[in-house]
Amino acid sequence: MRYRRTIIPLLLLLFLLFLWAVHNKHHFRPKKLQQVYQCWSMNDQPAKLQLSDWYSPKAVNTASSLITNWSAPVVWHSFYNDEILENYYAKHKITVGLTVFAVGRYIDYYLQRFIATADRHFMVGQKVIIYVMIDDFSKMPWMPLSPHRSIKVFEIEREKRWQDVSMMRMKIISEHIVDHIQYEVDFLFCMDVDQVFLRKYGLETLGESVAQLHAYWFQENATQFPYERSTLSEAYIPMGEGDFYYHAAVFGGTPIQVLNITRECFRKIMKDKENNVEAVWHDESHLNKYFFLHKPTKILSPEYCWPFRLPAISGINTVKLYWAQKDYNYLRVKN
Ligand code: UDP
Ligand code: MN
Repeated sequence: MRYRRTIIPLLLLLFLLFLWAVHNKHHFRPKKLQQVYQCWSMNDQPAKLQLSDWYSPKAVNTASSLITNWSAPVVWHSFYNDEILENYYAKHKITVGLTVFAVGRYIDYYLQRFIATADRHFMVGQKVIIYVMIDDFSKMPWMPLSPHRSIKVFEIEREKRWQDVSMMRMKIISEHIVDHIQYEVDFLFCMDVDQVFLRKYGLETLGESVAQLHAYWFQENATQFPYERSTLSEAYIPMGEGDFYYHAAVFGGTPIQVLNITRECFRKIMKDKENNVEAVWHDESHLNKYFFLHKPTKILSPEYCWPFRLPAISGINTVKLYWAQKDYNYLRVKN
């Protein structure tokens, strides 16, 4: 009798363990299920969208490139057909992620406006998840969002130097892609918080790996670009080489490509730290080195990140997003 009293709970425990093992073995994540479903339903889908279906470059009156010599489109406002893109993605549902960091005073100064304007203009009509990385959870503003939009907030450590706040984003983004973002979105953008969306920032910007032309350098010659020029740094690019100077305030792509970008940049940032060097423009120098070695598949014109109050120049008519002016010494974290 005593023997039976111990064996029954033991059997029950074994049975529960068995159920748990079976559950783990067949545990599907929603994204994986969606992919399986997409495979099954492939035959019903219209053909894949070709670049020529929605993109027709015209001469803009700036000295800017249209398509790169590795065939990546440079997206200007007048080059794309929004309606074709909208129709295509109405049948191919996607979710787009957007990471943004706010540490110290950047929370009070920029975060609310960044999110509010992203809600209005970023990927209108699509499902969007905004990933906010913040060093003080209690300062996260409460913000009502439009339908199909959500915010996920994560608390992060506050680095002592602003250069490290900026550089450590590479590490944190890569960890979050591995942990969850890869299952949650089809495309991911990573942006600075000191920016404001002005107009629709839409489907034309999506790509496997997306780089942003820097407004200060897009008309300059490669020898002028402020790349890292010390051979001691992993970000080194030889004089005269390089295609464009990219702005680290905006980059993106599929989660796997953004994982490659952020992992590689972070690995090189840490290698530089071991060698006691720091690239001239920190994470931006490393991002430029990455895109020098692995060419982006899509490039955004400076209309997609234009400095506030920079005098209007010909060809820049439709600014989608601008970066705010600021008093760096006051706003940035200090030792
Ligand atoms: N950042 C922050 N707090 C700081 C410094 C930087 O939150 O004290 C984050 C923020 O997202 C910011 C980004 O790091 O947009 C890059 O820094 P910053 O915008 O100052 O660089 P810049 O635009 O001058 O290259
Ligand atoms: Mn910035």
